[in-house]
Amino acid sequence: MRHLLFFFLLLPYLSLVAQYTPPRVYEKGQTLTYQELIQAYEALAKSSSKYRLITYGKTDAGFPLHLLVISNYKEFDPKVLRKDNMRIVLINNGIHPGEPAGIEASLQFAAELGKPQSKYSDFLKNTVVCIIPSYNIGGMMNRSPYHRAQQDEPEASGFRGNARNIDLNRDFMALRSENAQTFTEIFHDWKPDVFLDTHTTDGSDHQYTITLVTTAHQDLPPALGTYLDKTMRPALYKMMEEKSSYLMCPYVTVWNSTPDEGFEQLMESPRYSTGYASLFNTLSFMTENHIFKPFEDRVKSTLDFMYCLLEYTSKNAEDIKKFREQATEQLKKQDAFVLQWKLDSSRYENLMFRGYEASYPPSKLTGEPLLFYDQNKPFNKAVKYYNHWVPELSVDAPKYYIIPQAWKETIKRLDWNKVELLRLTEDVSLDLEMYYIIDYKTTKTPNNGHYLHYDVKVSSKNMKVDFYKGDYLVPVKGRETAFVIQALEPQAPDSYFAWNMFDDVLQSREYFSVFAFEDRAMHILDTTPGLREKLKQEIARNTQMAKNTYLQMQFIYRNSPYFEVTYKRYPVGRINKKMEIKAVDEKLYK
Ligand SMILES: [Zn+2]
Repeated sequence: MRHLLFFFLLLPYLSLVAQYTPPRVYEKGQTLTYQELIQAYEALAKSSSKYRLITYGKTDAGFPLHLLVISNYKEFDPKVLRKDNMRIVLINNGIHPGEPAGIEASLQFAAELGKPQSKYSDFLKNTVVCIIPSYNIGGMMNRSPYHRAQQDEPEASGFRGNARNIDLNRDFMALRSENAQTFTEIFHDWKPDVFLDTHTTDGSDHQYTITLVTTAHQDLPPALGTYLDKTMRPALYKMMEEKSSYLMCPYVTVWNSTPDEGFEQLMESPRYSTGYASLFNTLSFMTENHIFKPFEDRVKSTLDFMYCLLEYTSKNAEDIKKFREQATEQLKKQDAFVLQWKLDSSRYENLMFRGYEASYPPSKLTGEPLLFYDQNKPFNKAVKYYNHWVPELSVDAPKYYIIPQAWKETIKRLDWNKVELLRLTEDVSLDLEMYYIIDYKTTKTPNNGHYLHYDVKVSSKNMKVDFYKGDYLVPVKGRETAFVIQALEPQAPDSYFAWNMFDDVLQSREYFSVFAFEDRAMHILDTTPGLREKLKQEIARNTQMAKNTYLQMQFIYRNSPYFEVTYKRYPVGRINKKMEIKAVDEKLYK
């Protein structure tokens, strides 16, 4: 018994001995290399049974992604944790490794949470923290003092592009990188309630060390959006005000103009981490540290925010659960989904803003006026914060999307995102709604390896289409609904159509020979009601056609049954709620 008592008396001391203190190179204006970072996480993981360092998949650099899980109950199975009513916070770092404040802050955050005597351990009673130490590993390994033209600290840091020069914070829908493919695995394994992605910004000068992107609440189902906007977001600002010595304000979305003229809330589409995470009703945030503040302060302010986010999540664990569940229920009943938003520039809030007075003295280089912030002239005044976005384009959700199995790139991505995919057990001919792409624009230069389409216009047509055994049906319901709509509606800004996964349908494959088609063309013209009149109108509109046999024949060809029905037809069909779906209901397997 005496031995046992002695052992228990020794226990706190023993755990102190095992404790690991990670390096604080940020205090010297430095950031760890990738190898140093992973070594620190490995040492940390060995120091307490509250940690588990898990590796997932691969990244483009050939290394796996690491995930540190901090669980007070030493349970590391996400399914069990969710069943045990634990909230899950996921923190992603180093997506832009030249912005490493979050990399350094997360390591200190993780070390603090593992301490037996930590004042934060109470918050882990109902919350598990998951940290991706560095997401863009290739970019972090590409280290230099010259990657960031305006960043004096840290002395050297990583590069924005990943191992194949992809900006990973534009890749959450296209999933071109292995990094993003692996991220989806982590994301859907853990299904985080709260998500944080850490960044640094340099668009303007002001007094704030940390700025915050809160995902656009308009884009969430009302129960969760209102909770985020009216309760969680204000509470986080209040907590930072009370608990941190660093000032925080909403992300300042100005470049080469000044914040005192007013600025708008960021509306991020799903290619961005927070835009993507919010499709799954995850409460998402992005810290954007201010580049012109000392690196140590950037790290410490991010660390302060992490503590606030954990404390808030833990203290409001039941509310977060309740509103996320309500949001999923609302999604099941929601008919219209917004594909494009526009800013209501007539509505704004007055935001008390601590900035610096700006002027436009002549540039030393050209003598032309150049924006200058005078740090000796700070101000605190109300500026207009535009945070009212209104729907510009909405679409009604179908009951199912149906995708021919040929479109493997799309099917793979839906599968990676754990979307339920059913398959036809036999061939069917269905009356359903199909889209034709009637107009679109394409970027002139590549965007993450894609020539992205935008301003896409479609026309809708109900028609009979054949589908075959093995084709895929995507039920539109519940948790994945918002994601599925953003992926499969071609007019959505980050749809798979926009990201070039259906470009094959934009070319016509069949043709006519002008010398051999004339008799048939004349017959079509004579027997198709109204076609001669349409041709006349077209010639009046397009004078080039008047004496051009080919163009006139082409017009007749394109308005005849000989012209391919699949040209510019978006191959994903919509089976709408009112449509008879018995034909497929009984012919499905998983
Ligand atoms: Zn960034």
